[in-house]
Amino acid sequence: MIVLTDDLLLNYTRCTRRAYLTVYGDRSQRTADKEFVLKLRREHQRLVQDHLTGQTVVTPDYAPGDWQAGAEQTELLMAQGVEQIHRGILYWDAPLSTLDSLTTTPQAITAVGRPTLLVKQTGSSRFGDWCYRPVNIKLGKRPKSEYKIVAAFQAILLAHVQIMPPTLAQLILRDGGTYWVDLAQWEGKVWEVILDCLTMLGAEEIPEVFISRQRCSLCPWYDHCHQEAAASQHLSLVPGVTPSRYSALQAVGITELAQLAQLDPQCLQPEVDRPIAAQMQQQALALVDDRALPTPEAMVRSQTFPPLAPIELYFDLEAEPDRNVDFLFGVLCVNHVKQTETFHGFFAEKPENEPLIWQQFLALLHRYPTAPIVHFSAYEVETIKRLTKRYRMSQHPLKTLLPRFIDVHDWLLKLAVLPVESYSLKSVAKWLGFTWRDEGLSGDQTVCLYEKWLEAGDQDALATIIRYNEDDCRATHKLRLWLTEWQRSLHNL
Ligand code: SF4
Repeated sequence: MIVLTDDLLLNYTRCTRRAYLTVYGDRSQRTADKEFVLKLRREHQRLVQDHLTGQTVVTPDYAPGDWQAGAEQTELLMAQGVEQIHRGILYWDAPLSTLDSLTTTPQAITAVGRPTLLVKQTGSSRFGDWCYRPVNIKLGKRPKSEYKIVAAFQAILLAHVQIMPPTLAQLILRDGGTYWVDLAQWEGKVWEVILDCLTMLGAEEIPEVFISRQRCSLCPWYDHCHQEAAASQHLSLVPGVTPSRYSALQAVGITELAQLAQLDPQCLQPEVDRPIAAQMQQQALALVDDRALPTPEAMVRSQTFPPLAPIELYFDLEAEPDRNVDFLFGVLCVNHVKQTETFHGFFAEKPENEPLIWQQFLALLHRYPTAPIVHFSAYEVETIKRLTKRYRMSQHPLKTLLPRFIDVHDWLLKLAVLPVESYSLKSVAKWLGFTWRDEGLSGDQTVCLYEKWLEAGDQDALATIIRYNEDDCRATHKLRLWLTEWQRSLHNL
């Protein structure tokens, strides 16, 4: 039997393979939820609690996973006309029997919906002159289409339970804003998604792996999928190969890394522009040969990577976007003449201290008024602009600061194609032989560690954050040295 829950449908809209693995996957191949996922879950619970504070809600009492009992309890509460039901269950056993003929699944299907709230409103239903609408509280900032699909799915189940289709569903988002979903608009789409999902599950054939950093990084099946992709040298592991470019490659019969390395960039037009196709080809070649390649721009002498200065500042930030705070400004001060390195970590012990550490950071920059400030990615410069505006410190004008910044990520993309799966600092520095002292830690996790520090003053968490940030600065330094050498070697050719 397939249990089609709203979570499963949500997963399906994000990745068909994930929905498949949720139903049929070997759970021992699933990794535990990452710390960051747990943090998001806690934040969601807090958001729901904040919304419910001061309101009267009734929660059906049922054993975890016993959807049928939960549904019976929910229906009892609906029949009593309870104003708000929290964590009610909408259940429809064999509801999609009409669909069985449309899907290839021979299995029975049960549908389960779990809106955050069922809210009573006037109207008629089998219970009397009232009916319910689904309300979902979501951590997102925007009313994403996947939220609307889930709301429309719950509406189908609710229509079955109360014998009255709701016309509107409500989304309450992170900032407390309310968004109304016009269910008539989403009905056709949600049936399409349900049918596709059931057909995929019924076919019992696992969808092809496609690693996308943004989509896969928090998925519990990532290790399993990545292993499979790596073993088959799947093209999704080649930077620049997006799902649409992958389809274009498949259409011309290119399915393997070695084939991509020999690609004639002309042959993907008009689906993929020639320069993009040429980049993918070079990227595949770098991976096949396991060596760095120069970009066409690298051979132009006017593209000169700034030479090493006697003293340089390597800069990296840690931020908590939800609190809108940059809580650590890390600077590794490197004196290339005296061969010394000193790390300064300006840490906000509480978010309100951001202006204080900002001043300390600026004072350090002021001590070395001509030293280049080397960083990886655009985020650091964007933050400098934002904080200059926020704290209006006229003694450190932007126009004198900005020319000192050197974004090594930007220069790396200009000058070299590396045999890496991604151009993140982690991936690139690892290829250069750099290792972080806290192997496996990520930027997301430092956000969780900051939360631990704020909640409990956890000294270990604090030490780990600072160590991680210092290593990021050191990795940036390593890349800076490599790029300097790389350019020298190219110009000596
Ligand atoms: S790791 Fe990526 S491809 Fe694999 S199931 Fe998760 S989201 Fe899908």
